Amino acid sequence: MGAVSYTLGGGLGILAREFGYAADHVRSLDIVTADGRLRTVSADAEPGLFAGLLGGGADLGVVTAMETALVPVARLYGGALAYDGTEVDPAAVLRAYTDWARTVPDTLTSSLGAIAYPDIPVLPPQLRGQYVVSVRIAFTGSAAEGERLVAPLRAALGPAASDTVREMPYSESHTIHSDPDFPHAYYGDSVVLSELDEAGVAELIRMSGPGARGMHVVQVNQLGGALARPAANCVPYRDAGWLVRILSPLDASGTEAARAHHTLAFKQVEGRAVGRSLNFSFGGGDRTEGLYDAETRKRLAVLKAAYDPANLFRRDFTMR
Ligand SMILES: Cc1cc2nc3c(=O)[nH]c(=O)nc-3n(C[C@H](O)[C@H](O)[C@H](O)COP(=O)(O)OP(=O)(O)OC[C@H]3O[C@@H](n4cnc5c(N)ncnc54)[C@H](O)[C@@H]3O)c2cc1C
Repeated sequence: MGAVSYTLGGGLGILAREFGYAADHVRSLDIVTADGRLRTVSADAEPGLFAGLLGGGADLGVVTAMETALVPVARLYGGALAYDGTEVDPAAVLRAYTDWARTVPDTLTSSLGAIAYPDIPVLPPQLRGQYVVSVRIAFTGSAAEGERLVAPLRAALGPAASDTVREMPYSESHTIHSDPDFPHAYYGDSVVLSELDEAGVAELIRMSGPGARGMHVVQVNQLGGALARPAANCVPYRDAGWLVRILSPLDASGTEAARAHHTLAFKQVEGRAVGRSLNFSFGGGDRTEGLYDAETRKRLAVLKAAYDPANLFRRDFTMR
């Protein structure tokens, strides 16, 4: 994925609860707007457009440069505790994970993943046909403190099929989530929850596991910490507690089957839903509902009318 599109959509990184969204660290953006002008925008120069781009996404112009602040990360303790989802109850893993996550400091960011891998040759042999339920962890404190924090989770979950949680150089941080390193087309959707509806999320995971039509990657992210800090940009839902997303690789049958699955699955958690997350809602045509709270949406519509009144820049939806 591109660094600019990731950041304009918010940018939820592996240390997000400690450092906030990637968008919160941007110092300036160079952007070519619909009138053909190259503008450098920042908190001091055209601050309204600057704030709208960060979280508002990509339909106000083409960003040609981005200056961002760095954060100090001296060490990293992290990895994944992975379980065979046919041997453990994924709902029990979810419960143990969420109970534990509520006890850890903001310097620890974590998520739960549930993936029923199809038995296809493009996957590594150890994943083919496996149902993997894992807790992914990233922590910037010492390894000893990390061990102490993770111990209750290890105890609650019992022996893992694979436990890669360790001290590592940051250059190995991509191994925590093991996202695929080859490009693929996906349909993705998401729901931001005020508080976790445990029964609903457990059902969403069950429906998306083995036996579902198509492959679905479910991820449950704990939010909070620095993500809840107000920032002068348009990344919404700062006080939400959890993000649940489903990512469905597309095959030749297109988006319809994935969309139908998502509609049913997200129905299970609609009671606590406050909205959807821009970065994790893609390939879905013109669905814009829920991407912003009413005030942010109004702010973005004013910017769109001012900077791109003819709607030159469209994603697969428009804010107008
Ligand atoms: C496997 C996977 C893992 C992911 N993990 C994360 C994650 O951990 N955290 C997270 O926050 N997101 C994550 N995402 C979501 C990802 O950040 C967003 O979907 C992002 O928009 C993808 O960017 P892209 O460049 O790949 O897509 P594209 O479709 O190329 O771009 C997305 C949008 O940005 C626009 N755009 C691209 N470049 C520019 C530019 N220079 N100026 C203006 N507009 C531009 C495009 O026109 C398009 O509308 C993940 C997605 C996938 C598929």
